[in-house]
Amino acid sequence: MGFSGWRVIKEGLTGNRGWKPQWRDAAPKKDYDVLIIGGGGHGLATAYYLAKEHGITNVAVLEKGHLGSGNIGRNTTLVRSNYMMPGNSEFYSHSLKLWEGLSQELNYNVMHSPRGQIVLNHSDAQRDGAVRRGNAMINRGDEAELLTRDDVRRMVPYLNFDSARFPIYGGLLQRRAGTARHDAVAWGYARAADERGVDLVQNCEVTGIDMKNGKVTGVQTTRGVIRAPKIAVVVAGRSSQVAAMAGMRLPIESHVLQAFVTEGLKPCIDHVISFGMGHFYISQSDKGGLVFGGNLDFYASYASRGNLPMKEHVMEAAMTLMPMIGKAKVLRSWGGIMDMTPDGSPIIDRTLIDGLYLNCGWCYGGFKAVPASGYGFAHLLATDQHHATASKFRLDRFRSGRGLMDEEATGSQHNLH
Ligand SMILES: Cc1cc2nc3c(=O)[nH]c(=O)nc-3n(C[C@H](O)[C@H](O)[C@H](O)COP(=O)(O)OP(=O)(O)OC[C@H]3O[C@@H](n4cnc5c(N)ncnc54)[C@H](O)[C@@H]3O)c2cc1C
Repeated sequence: MGFSGWRVIKEGLTGNRGWKPQWRDAAPKKDYDVLIIGGGGHGLATAYYLAKEHGITNVAVLEKGHLGSGNIGRNTTLVRSNYMMPGNSEFYSHSLKLWEGLSQELNYNVMHSPRGQIVLNHSDAQRDGAVRRGNAMINRGDEAELLTRDDVRRMVPYLNFDSARFPIYGGLLQRRAGTARHDAVAWGYARAADERGVDLVQNCEVTGIDMKNGKVTGVQTTRGVIRAPKIAVVVAGRSSQVAAMAGMRLPIESHVLQAFVTEGLKPCIDHVISFGMGHFYISQSDKGGLVFGGNLDFYASYASRGNLPMKEHVMEAAMTLMPMIGKAKVLRSWGGIMDMTPDGSPIIDRTLIDGLYLNCGWCYGGFKAVPASGYGFAHLLATDQHHATASKFRLDRFRSGRGLMDEEATGSQHNLH
């Protein structure tokens, strides 16, 4: 079903009775060319690009709950490409470009809002790091601006400049960074994939992966056996569990990440702001809520809720940086299960099992990656070749130690940084 200004006006005048479901509630067939396990952002984008770029439409997305019920509907929606390491750098740059045309591409308003992200620095060393990162971004063809303390004060005067525990030295601004509406992205890709013939099968949990002679043949699900020669595992925080069904042990730990939203307020925060000295970042949603978060809860868990000490830590960081936030009431908090890799960078690769492909390890940054991840993974599934922008996310880097992408310089245990 298409959207247009005329359609909105017509429906508005006729009681909104003409809207139809955005996608079919497909029942699983017995056989497909490709099965995608996981109906999150990455799984749905993969299905869409498989159909659109490669003409492969005999595809099913198998989702154990409803589409968009995982991290794609739980994140804080930041979209940026201020990465530095080769591998990540070209990938996230590609992703941001896809974001910029996504609403048109999908004919679905994903509410992409390039409002600019300021990453603050609070020491000489951090400022040097910002210069280096900014230069890397510019050399790659993206834009970056180094802000002085006065520049930051002009742009975001409500930060604590004068009596701060960690004085603000300046910031690194990426103007094209910003936010998008998380579930609209899932719905937009779902609708566009369905339109091209992909079956989106909800309430269909994969419980086993069938193999014969080292090759996948299909999956066991709560809705019966489904066969396919190619199976794509795209289940984010559940990656280790699903890979274990094929006898694989992944270099992934699942950790909880929390986020928070306040009551709706009048517009007061125009940018995305990241605290350089503590774990805190914030933006304001279109509904007016201040959306913010911090770091992992620091224990492995499959529970999508967080602990109180991390809440306290995030609130403390918020108050340190932005004392005015103390007046806002927190409306709710929630958690999601993050698929943390040792180097903090993702995996898009084949496995040693013929026909089994893996897309995971997005840590806490996989929302911004959705378009390029789907694009690159679809390319791999269709051609068995890595796409140029997603060629370094190899699984075997964790075995060989070659090609690690330690983006945040947090060492070999990103999950414990
Ligand atoms: C609080 C929070 C804040 C975040 N903030 C940001 C941010 O600001 N910017 C950013 O870039 N990233 C952010 N992220 C990270 C981002 O949300 C994730 O990296 C990304 O959404 C993961 O990919 P996905 O969308 O495919 O995952 P999901 O939406 O989790 O999709 C995986 C799907 O697989 C399904 N599944 C699992 N097991 C099975 C099975 N056995 N059978 C069938 N289906 C199965 C799940 O139900 C789920 O729907 C944040 C995450 C959280 C939790």
